[in-house]
This record gives sequence, C-alpha cells and structure tokens, in this order.
Amino acid sequence: MINQKMLELGTKRSAIRELFEYGRTRKAEIGAEGVFDFSIGNPSVAAPQCLTDALRDLIDGTDPVTLHGYTSAQGDPAVRTAVAKAEAERSGEYVDPNLIYMTCGAAASLTITLHALCNAGDEVIVLAPYFPEYRVFAEKAGAVVKEVPCLPLTFQLDFAALSDAITPRTKAVILNSPNNPTGAVIPAADLQILGNLLREKEAFLGTEIFLICDEPYRALVYDGVSVPYVPSFYSRTVVCYSYSKALSLPGERIGYILIPPVLPDGETVYAAVCGAGRALGFVCAPSLMQYAVARCTNAVAEASVYEENRGILSRGLSEIGYSITPPDGAFYLFVKALEEDAVAFCQRAKEYELLLVPSDSFGVRGYVRISYCVSTQQIRNSLPAFRALYESYRKKV
Ligand code: PLP
Repeated sequence: MINQKMLELGTKRSAIRELFEYGRTRKAEIGAEGVFDFSIGNPSVAAPQCLTDALRDLIDGTDPVTLHGYTSAQGDPAVRTAVAKAEAERSGEYVDPNLIYMTCGAAASLTITLHALCNAGDEVIVLAPYFPEYRVFAEKAGAVVKEVPCLPLTFQLDFAALSDAITPRTKAVILNSPNNPTGAVIPAADLQILGNLLREKEAFLGTEIFLICDEPYRALVYDGVSVPYVPSFYSRTVVCYSYSKALSLPGERIGYILIPPVLPDGETVYAAVCGAGRALGFVCAPSLMQYAVARCTNAVAEASVYEENRGILSRGLSEIGYSITPPDGAFYLFVKALEEDAVAFCQRAKEYELLLVPSDSFGVRGYVRISYCVSTQQIRNSLPAFRALYESYRKKV
C-alpha cells in the first residue's frame, strides 16, 4: 500500500488552492473582469529591474556550463557571502556565510529547519492564525502541532496562552512577522517579552526551545514600521527567508536559512540543516536564481501598489461597515465575517463574485482573508460587490 498520508495530502487540495481553481473556472465562464479573486498571495507587481538586469547579464556574460551547473549543496560560497553581508547590514550584527543555507523558497527553508530540529513526538507551537502549510511541514518532520491563539482583534502574541502551552516536549515556536493572514508585525517590545519567556521556560524545564522565524514578507511593511532582527532578542533563533514576495519571484523558488552566530552550538544546528536538506533532496537551490538574488540582496519590488491597495480597501470596507484589522505589513487584510461561520460567509460572497478565504484555514473562526496583491482596479471595482454582500446581511442573515 502506498503512503496514505501523502495520498491524502495530494488529493485533498488546501482551501486556498480550491478557491484559486474555482476562480480560474469562473473567470473562463464570465470573464476575468467579473470575478474579484482575492484568494492567493501571488505578487501582482513585477520583479525589480535589478533582477531582470542581473539575469540578462548572467546569461550573456557567464559560461553556461558554470551558470547552470550544481553549486555546493548549501549554496554557492560567493552567494552566501553576499546574503550574509546584506543580513549583517540589516541587523548590525555579524552573520557568518558558512551558516547560511540557500533553499528553494520559504517552504523549503521551513521544511528543512523543522526536519533538522525535530525528533518524533516533539511539539511545535504555531500561533493562530497561521499559514496552513506549517502543519503539513511540521507533521512531516514527525512533530505534533500545537495551536496557540493570538490576542483577539490585534492578533499580537498572547504570552499567557503561549506560556501555558509550553511543555517539556516543546521543540520550537514558529513566528511569522509580518503575518499571513493578518499583516500584523510583532514589535520589538513583544519580542523582548517573548525572549524572556522562552529563556525562563528553558531554564525551568531544562530543555532547548527554538524560535523559527518565517519572514517572507519582511520587506513589505507600511507607515514606517520595521521588522526587528529576532536573534537579537532570543539567540536560539533560526531565520527562514524567501525572496518570493520581496522580489516578486515566487515561481523561481529561492530563499535561505540563516543560523545566527549567537545561536548556541550553531555549527551543529547548521550541520543538521545540511543533513535535512540532503535527506529531503533539497540540495543546491536553483543556481541561476542564487547568482541573480546575490546581486539584488537589497532590492524590493515596487510595493507602493500594495500600499495603495491596502489604503483603498481598508477605507472602503470600513466605510461600508466591515470590521478590519489594520495590517502593518504583507499584502493581506483580515476582516471579520458577517456571520460566525466564515465558510458560509465566503460561500455567500461567491454569489457576489468575491473570492475570499475563510479563516478556518488559518486555525481561527469568524474571519476572512483578502489578498490585496491584485490590480488597484480590481480593488476599486470590487467595493460595490462588498457593499451588496454587506447589505444582504442587513436584509436577512
Ligand atoms: N510562509 C508564509 C507565511 C507564506 O505566506 C508563504 C507563501 O505564501 C510561504 C511561507 C511559502 O513561501 P515560498 O513561496 O517562498 O515557499
């Protein structure tokens, strides 16, 4: 018999993918203009010029055999040096190129890290609402997932709930800031409290607890908000990064894992990362993309479109009467559904050609996620549909 768990994962699509596929069919039926598809987090702005220039230059100016050949399993040394330099500039702290592991995007960064850290039965804490694939990745690594809710309304860390959830089996906490689906950014003051809490727990339980920081949206923040460098607050941190969103190249599959030099016994953790990359078949991230991102480590795709969309959508929905969580980063808006059952609400939204993701997918009830990485025209055109949906609830729930 083949692996039933894998069969199940392969045959049951995620709610987001399901909706995305529905959107494709519906657009074919009534035309793309008529469907307000807010289902998926696919960047809607072009990759920065820096990336196009780097790719052209690499293709024109490099021996193709070298360009497309394998790099070191953990990534080309010069690429890792460029990444480490950029991380050091951002954080003001030393970053060792020999503790950087190039990956095929954040999904690979997370999967490798979880496999490197977890033994069967270890617990991994995810903070709800959370990116649904965390469960898939952690369970594949043999871990047991524990959901801990964030605070209502703000979706910031609930330290009391987190403290209660930590047990002698806790191996890691996954942190995602800016957050998908809420757009929340965890401020430095909260990271300080979190660091203290984890250190106290480690001392009390005599265990090691890792913080896994999933940061693909780090470069997409608004209103002067910045994303703190988490290892400064807690040394047993592994940073999982991806260029998918910052450089608008999610299909190219490129990112990295950073083991900060402050992480105790970091070389051993890095060796386990290399081992997990090997065991999972994730050695040598795409070489052309490695060389290209090394030339664009500080570039960011034109995020002003997201900022404009965020403003129009937040204002528009609030004026209609929806209750929104103002996002500090990423390109998602988390909105209170107009009935308790968010799945039923999304079903009704479809009647108005609005494709919204119910929060149940993210471990929380009663909300929807709107991906505003779409054209500004789509945002504007969708507002009457949001109004009609709202009015339909005033008439009859
Ligand atoms: N983590 C979060 C929070 C995400 O939203 C995503 C993708 O949307 C990923 C990880 C996976 O990113 P990548 O496409 O780089 O694998």
